[in-house]
Amino acid sequence: MKQPPEGPFPPERLARFARHIVLPEVGGAGQAALERSHVVLVGLGGIGSPALQYLAAAGIGRLTLVDGDKVDASNLQRQTIYTTRDIEHGKAVSARRWLANFDVATEAELHDGRIGPDNAPALLEGADLVLDGTDNFATRLAVSDACVAAQVPLLSAAVGRFQGQVGAFAGHRADQACYRCFVGDAFDAEDCDSCAEDGMLGAMAGWTGTFAALHAVRVLLDGVSSFGDPQWGTVHLLDGMTPAMRSFLIAKDPACSGCGSAAL
Ligand SMILES: [Zn+2]
Repeated sequence: MKQPPEGPFPPERLARFARHIVLPEVGGAGQAALERSHVVLVGLGGIGSPALQYLAAAGIGRLTLVDGDKVDASNLQRQTIYTTRDIEHGKAVSARRWLANFDVATEAELHDGRIGPDNAPALLEGADLVLDGTDNFATRLAVSDACVAAQVPLLSAAVGRFQGQVGAFAGHRADQACYRCFVGDAFDAEDCDSCAEDGMLGAMAGWTGTFAALHAVRVLLDGVSSFGDPQWGTVHLLDGMTPAMRSFLIAKDPACSGCGSAAL
């Protein structure tokens, strides 16, 4: 019988992640790094659901699941981890149930409520990356500020109608923009949940969420394997109508109240 190659993986984990490990851009070192990683997933909706599926499938060792909402029937068109029987159940609890069925080896913590300036430092402690897929600017800006303060990189993802947007930010670094540099302060007080009014093609949330998961793996492998170039400050726009993609770079705003010299 063929012996498994030497390495940090027990045979069942080696089999599970074989298609990653065989990629030179990931390899055994990359897979081991993913296993050591801690990602905080804020928002378990249209973006968070497919992102969770691919992050868990990628073998991320520790996931913190943050969402205070309950599953609604209208979510099922795009929030792919939930089923009919999850309706009226908490999203964070349902997401953890999905995760427990998928891979018992994943460490999961949950916060069944909103994230804000009061609890963000504790939730972000020790995290390697935050993936924010929430649908309102007040939360997004609070998460961004908390990431800058905790020196944790942020992947910000949003989707509406036929358009998605994913950007990686490292605003805690002197030369890198934060999410607030991108959108400004005007949205702090506005709770902008336009999904119900504007509609959204379900698969558009899937494309955006899985693109965010792809980018999360890239960030986590930065400095470990050749896949990692996080492209800090670059925002990718996903156009599902044409379809097409384009990208642009956000410059750090020295006057930014989140990461500029006045804030730090
Ligand atoms: Zn900034």
